[in-house]
Amino acid sequence: MSFRLCYPEFKNKALTFSYDDGQIFDRRLVEIFNRFGLKATFHLNSGTLDTEGFLKKEEIAALFEGHEIACHGVLHEFPTHLAQERLVQEFYQDRLTLEACTGRIIRGCSYAYGEYDARVVNTLKTLGFAYCRTVDSLGNFRVPEEFIRWRPSCHHNDAFGELSDRFLNTPGFSRLSLFYVWGHSFEFDRENTWDKMEAFCEKMSGRDDVWYTTNIDYVDYINAARGLLFSADGTQVRNLSAIPIYAEIDGERRIL
Ligand SMILES: [Zn+2]
Repeated sequence: MSFRLCYPEFKNKALTFSYDDGQIFDRRLVEIFNRFGLKATFHLNSGTLDTEGFLKKEEIAALFEGHEIACHGVLHEFPTHLAQERLVQEFYQDRLTLEACTGRIIRGCSYAYGEYDARVVNTLKTLGFAYCRTVDSLGNFRVPEEFIRWRPSCHHNDAFGELSDRFLNTPGFSRLSLFYVWGHSFEFDRENTWDKMEAFCEKMSGRDDVWYTTNIDYVDYINAARGLLFSADGTQVRNLSAIPIYAEIDGERRIL
């Protein structure tokens, strides 16, 4: 049996965004994403919400409807500098507060300052996070090896040019590709690049071969696909997860 995994609805490319810190500029950014039908993840510091220049707790659930809300540490502390109890509190309390504000189950995270080490990684795994994004850009569109040390494709400033063309022109038959763009919404204001971001989003939108997804939906899909059960001789396959998996089996499109 030949088996080729596809993304949902038999798409071959995926696009996701990841934006940190929860400043008020997220409001303008999410409006752009919504206008172009793109999906994103917003990593928030619960301890800075309701302070000047940051989003309000009461607005985040509605503002990010259709997008993912994820953790970034209560107070944006350097994770690697924290004593163990404080490290646990920095991320677990962030999760508790964001869940209480939104009524959601929150399992995503990004490393404040992009800082992590083996201890931080193990702590986040223990706290139940499904993934944590780094700032170590890959410069390509590979499916991540390890979600708990998730390397994005690039920062948005590096996405506007040649890389976006490379993604759109990747032949669909080659492999699953993922374009993962990260940044901070305040950078568009500070660097006067709102127009560039808007043009980029428009360019990436409305593509039949692209799955527009949040970070966590991507993780859950890939984990479900990696968890498929195959018989030893490869002639049978079963999906025990609640997530439909799209594949081409012996050249035929199948939903497992
Ligand atoms: Zn940050």
